[in-house]
Amino acid sequence: MSYLPNLIVPRVRAKTDHCPILGCAVHQRRYRLMCWRHWLTVPPWLRDKVWRLTVTAQGTPVLVAAITEAFRAAKQGPPPSLWFLIRQYLRR
Ligand SMILES: [Zn+2]
Repeated sequence: MSYLPNLIVPRVRAKTDHCPILGCAVHQRRYRLMCWRHWLTVPPWLRDKVWRLTVTAQGTPVLVAAITEAFRAAKQGPPPSLWFLIRQYLRR
């Protein structure tokens, strides 16, 4: 998977209209997995994995497991500031 799609939140049918991360109240369209800022706090390798499975393994338990993993790996609480995301990017 190339680098760019990594930054885009995959479209997956979600149960709620809100970002599912605990403590986040960002309203979003139904088909987004989580809000963009929380998505960027998921480790890049895991974002790649979710994207790959979204394309190749739609509707399978493997994808569900990867999504659950991403929810756990994302920073909990309110969506991080842009400064937080930039600092995180520069650190790695
Ligand atoms: Zn969020």
